[in-house]
Amino acid sequence: MDQAGETTHFGFRDVPVDDKQNLVNDVFHSVAQRYDLMNDLMSIGMHRVWKDVMIQALNPPRSDAPFALLDVAGGTGDISFRAAGQAGDGFHATVCDINTGMLEVGRERAVTKHLEHRVDFVEGNAEALDFANKSFDAYTIAFGIRNVPRIDRALAEAYRVLRPGSRFLCLEFSTVDVPGLDTIYDLFSFKVIPPLGKAVTGDAESYQYLVESIRQFPKPAAFAEMIRDAGFSRVKYESLSGGIVALHSGWRL
Ligand code: SAM
Repeated sequence: MDQAGETTHFGFRDVPVDDKQNLVNDVFHSVAQRYDLMNDLMSIGMHRVWKDVMIQALNPPRSDAPFALLDVAGGTGDISFRAAGQAGDGFHATVCDINTGMLEVGRERAVTKHLEHRVDFVEGNAEALDFANKSFDAYTIAFGIRNVPRIDRALAEAYRVLRPGSRFLCLEFSTVDVPGLDTIYDLFSFKVIPPLGKAVTGDAESYQYLVESIRQFPKPAAFAEMIRDAGFSRVKYESLSGGIVALHSGWRL
């Protein structure tokens, strides 16, 4: 049970841990229809490069050997579609997300891409997955984990549903560690992204949350330690684009 009064971050605000998920859900309901367009605009297309690095690390089999991917906080399906595009006939992805608005957009995209038989969309919470123990060959979470109120629970669930010998991969915004770039990045984040969000989605606040939540996420070494604490082995991370993003990985052995 949670201790009474336990709080967490929602952007720069401290909120009761039980309130955070509803606030996060409001953000993604508000932006779902324009989510993919905004990703391209605010990352200047870079999210595609970062996601490709994740898919390269995932390296799904190109054969028809069965391979089940669980893509948690998978939103509109980007990671799963990219993985399916590289994988063989035995590949199947389950996109699990707590937000019906994001899932609806994802299902429509799957049909447009003729991937509806290879990628399923299910509603679920990363903290309490409705899947059997040891039932997946890989777990991915891209730009999702910082939105989850209890990250330790999500990591424990990732470990539980993975088969021994399979891989956990997490792509997330991180900490810029290049002098000069940090100033430009802060200016772009706080002065450009919320007004851009307002222009494209009519909602500046959601994008203010986004840039604030990035600053509150643990530094990459601390996050790697959390992944180890969940039981994963051979945990490592790679910083991308001067630390704007980090790709963490670990194995359930
Ligand atoms: N992975 C997708 C991508 O890279 O484009 C979507 C990332 S989007 C920034 C974050 C997603 O996390 C949203 O779709 C949101 O609904 C989802 N999310 C937030 N909290 C969650 C939770 N507790 N369980 C599952 N999904 C969650």
